[in-house]
Amino acid sequence: MLDKLKELESQARKLEVSGQEAEHLIIEAGRHARQFVDGLEEAQTYTAGSPDPAPWSAGFSDQAGHIRELLDVVSSGVNTHGINPASGGHLGYIPGGGVFPSAVGDFLADVGNRFAGIEFASPGAVQMERSLVQWMAGLVGYPEGAGGDLTSGGSIANLTALVTAREARGISARDIPNSSIYLTAQAHHCIDKALCVAGMAECPKRIVPMDGGYRMDATALEKMIREDRAEGLNPWLVVASAGTTDTGAIDPLPAIAPIARDQGLWLHLDAAYGGFFLLCEEGREVLSGLEAADSIVMDPHKGLFLPYGSGALLVRNVHDLARAHGYEANYMLDAREASQEYSPADLSAELSRPFRGMRLWLPLKLFGLAPFRAALSEKIWLARYFHQRISDMPGFEAGPRPDLSVVTYRYVPENGDADAFNRRLLQEVLSDGKVFISSTRLDGRFVLRLAVLHYRTHKSTIDYLLDLLSETARRLVG
Ligand SMILES: *Cc1c(COP(=O)(O)O)cnc(C)c1O
Repeated sequence: MLDKLKELESQARKLEVSGQEAEHLIIEAGRHARQFVDGLEEAQTYTAGSPDPAPWSAGFSDQAGHIRELLDVVSSGVNTHGINPASGGHLGYIPGGGVFPSAVGDFLADVGNRFAGIEFASPGAVQMERSLVQWMAGLVGYPEGAGGDLTSGGSIANLTALVTAREARGISARDIPNSSIYLTAQAHHCIDKALCVAGMAECPKRIVPMDGGYRMDATALEKMIREDRAEGLNPWLVVASAGTTDTGAIDPLPAIAPIARDQGLWLHLDAAYGGFFLLCEEGREVLSGLEAADSIVMDPHKGLFLPYGSGALLVRNVHDLARAHGYEANYMLDAREASQEYSPADLSAELSRPFRGMRLWLPLKLFGLAPFRAALSEKIWLARYFHQRISDMPGFEAGPRPDLSVVTYRYVPENGDADAFNRRLLQEVLSDGKVFISSTRLDGRFVLRLAVLHYRTHKSTIDYLLDLLSETARRLVG
């Protein structure tokens, strides 16, 4: 037995790298990072096709590898095809970007591997995360008593919010078929997913009409709620958006909030994309009244330019969040009402979780908030600049003036099918690959879509796209 243990130990100890080996791995990874960052200027934003799948079909074996060879696999097997989210030419979907210090934050979080789920296990990690949530709660204008959670993204944050709303309004399985929900056709599809996952797919879903700018029509909302109540339904939830994915539209919170309040509905705000524009003046001008929402989702991996994996949920009354998730809630809640100090595990479906605070805290502290404010303001002005220039470009027409940083537009050929023409135009832009744009359908029409939210996107990027669109359209017409 002793021989056996000795043999196993010598094998198992290979998992324990020395300090020197740790440093060596990081130096190699640092070299890789340096090449990656230096190459971004020249890199494509979009490359069709997919890399050689050989590294993935090789499987796994007892054979030990070498860090340089493995980093080469990352370079040639992952960071080649598809969309390059690190490139400032990413002008499709809602880009994030991934500020570099977040990667260092993840590294530091993983080196220490603190358990950020429970305060007892890591008071420092939990307090860091709490300070970030409180900063965000202050940003949206929530009063004391608000709280929230750092999540993996907006979809999970929205799911958590809807479960919180369901519990706060006491909607049981029996009530579901009668309990109506209000949202527009522009609400993000993750709301549907969340309703499905949370057992609320059978709630009557009422699609509220929109104005010409794709914003919820508050008058129509109130009318629908009253009519539904008269019909015997139990209206209980409004889902508004601050920055829709298709057009970046902001639902009129100042008009919606009093209706939700007077009618006793939970008001949830999906600000996954738009929320952090509160950091700049132009954003604050259009994002008024957020604080009236009972719950708000905002994505640091969008508006704070973090790498993927960071969403946030804020709830006006943190006890609502705890009641919906706290596994100890029945016998701990009274004690906690006094202290208001919840651990992340009390406020989410997760127990073990990554220490997400570090990837947020490090860049915010390292850069300070000023460059974030400037970058967000710059994105709004770049969208306005694009909207103005594309409106003036022969043959093109633009959608509504952007509330935030999304612009829809299309080319209108003098003859022929406009949808087919714009599909070809999109394909041509994608095959150029220097910038990546996307499309959507609005009112049954195929339109092109610009979403500016990358910290590496500047005026030269937008000018490149404008020139490319103009040249390509002329070539396709001719
Ligand atoms: C991106 C987005 C989501 C989904 O968030 P993920 O972080 O991708 O899960 C939800 N709502 C809106 C408005 C979004 O822009």
